[in-house]
Amino acid sequence: MEDLARRVREKAREKGAVILAHNYQRPEVQDVADFVGDSLELSIKAMETEAKTIVFAGVDFMVEQAAILNPGKTILTPEPSSICPMAWQLDPPIVGEYRKKHPNTPLVVYVNSFAEVKSMADYVVTSSSASKLVSKLDAEKILFGPDRNLASYVAETTGKEVVAVPLNSYCPVHIGITKEKVLSVKERIPDAKVLVHPECPVETRKIADFVGSTSQIIKAAGEINAKRFIIGTENGVVHRINKLYPGKEAYPVSEDTICPNMKKITLEKVYRSLVSNEVVVKVDEKIAEKARAVLERSFELLGVEVPWRRK
Ligand code: SF4
Repeated sequence: MEDLARRVREKAREKGAVILAHNYQRPEVQDVADFVGDSLELSIKAMETEAKTIVFAGVDFMVEQAAILNPGKTILTPEPSSICPMAWQLDPPIVGEYRKKHPNTPLVVYVNSFAEVKSMADYVVTSSSASKLVSKLDAEKILFGPDRNLASYVAETTGKEVVAVPLNSYCPVHIGITKEKVLSVKERIPDAKVLVHPECPVETRKIADFVGSTSQIIKAAGEINAKRFIIGTENGVVHRINKLYPGKEAYPVSEDTICPNMKKITLEKVYRSLVSNEVVVKVDEKIAEKARAVLERSFELLGVEVPWRRK
């Protein structure tokens, strides 16, 4: 494994490529990456590098997102069958249907969606920016999708009416992080703080000490004055916390809180992708342009500097 990791790094250097790994990737893939983080954060990091080739160890919509934000660069996926089943639950016809049913209602989409869906939305948010952006909107009713759990979290934290688009969309991994499972780990480690993702069911969120995106969970584990943590999100985050904070201990809610699609990407596949320059992911330029405009509007409303306007 060490030898393969060294070959991956050598190949990336030789090609002038940057390797991005999402927080849910296998530990050995995270360990060879130039950057590890949330999906949007990673695409922005890629914009800031000189690299002309980006290998994105993440699921389909994340690789597309990198293509939207990095026109002119070669975006590679090491495993094209690594998909996000939640993103697939919101397609353009569903957007059209809800737009028609709820006219004059702003549509906010989660970054976990495809380029075409983003291009049809009013705003795009991450799990960390969703509540902040919705609270700034001059509207009491919002369409939000995909993910009914994040939609209900946004409703709770903003006091607005949030209609989930579609009504029953969810992440198959986070939906399995139940209150009962968390409580059973808590029984074994009573002093542990519970940190969970807003894609978890509302009953789980209610018993948590902290609710936030993967990056916010990682940050919180470093800042909260406690030694042990129960991590209510994909288990890749457990690895990151244990690696970043040697004096602390992170525990999964269950050994099977695994996104199987994320885990399809192996070190071997990252190496093959670098060697073969495959598989290239492209987004239609007109769609990418519209999606970038929606992202730009979202950054502006959030009061965040638009990354591609930075000098
Ligand atoms: S953990 Fe859920 S939302 Fe994230 S990539 Fe896997 S299926 Fe999609």
